[in-house]
Amino acid sequence: MGTEPPDPVGLEMRIDVVSIFVDYLAPLNLSLVGRAQRSGLLDVQLHDLRGHATDRHRTVDDSPYGGGPGMVMRPDVWGEALDSVLAQASESPPVLVVPTPSGEPFTAAVAEELAGSGWLVFACGRYEGIDARVMTHYRDRCEVREISIGDVVLAGGEAAVLVMVEAIARLLPGVLGNPASAADDSFAPGRAGGPLEGPVYTRPPVWRGLSVPPVLMSGDHGEVSRWRAQESADRSRAMRPDLVPPDVP
Ligand code: SAM
Repeated sequence: MGTEPPDPVGLEMRIDVVSIFVDYLAPLNLSLVGRAQRSGLLDVQLHDLRGHATDRHRTVDDSPYGGGPGMVMRPDVWGEALDSVLAQASESPPVLVVPTPSGEPFTAAVAEELAGSGWLVFACGRYEGIDARVMTHYRDRCEVREISIGDVVLAGGEAAVLVMVEAIARLLPGVLGNPASAADDSFAPGRAGGPLEGPVYTRPPVWRGLSVPPVLMSGDHGEVSRWRAQESADRSRAMRPDLVPPDVP
């Protein structure tokens, strides 16, 4: 008997990423996101911003108006690059995601919103960031989300894009082998106990003198659920008191 061919799958999302370091995005071909691409659920296209510079040095930046240190990415180069991506529009325009430490925080809820869009375009800044007129201009042409992955400053948007794309891709139908596992994750809507998942264990039952909590081997699913909810609440209170509502046990 031959192996059954996999069920045909439809494209769930197109992602375009514009960057001056497209090689930085090579991990998008690995693991879960790479598999989603190979199975046809996800189409990721990378674009070199420098390909849209007009001088022979392929310059993408210039000194900031008003003075100050560092360089700012030029709006004209970004405009050419984004126009060429947007020109590939089939029906509805994409959501343009601009990673920046001064953006709205990236959360599970934001990942879910973005996972509902069929087309995302990421604009990776470097240096002091992208000339603000780029975001102003494209707000007239599509939804623009300026998003921060945390209260830290990275050297460029590429690492932020890797984080966001992985978080978004795992929410797309068909991407996770077992979609139920996402429902148990930290920050999943309706998590019992608190926003964070508690500790997890596997074989062997005793490792270096440390035993797995007996309740997990009891076979009593009700007790296991109660224990997990309590662990989740304890961990959430300890690690993220800012997220724990007062009535969590
Ligand atoms: N001058 C900017 C500021 O203080 O807001 C920081 C620019 S940062 C050195 C260069 C680029 O890295 C940004 O344009 C953005 O693409 C990316 N980046 C840095 N930190 C980030 C963060 N926390 N979240 C998302 N992107 C970030």
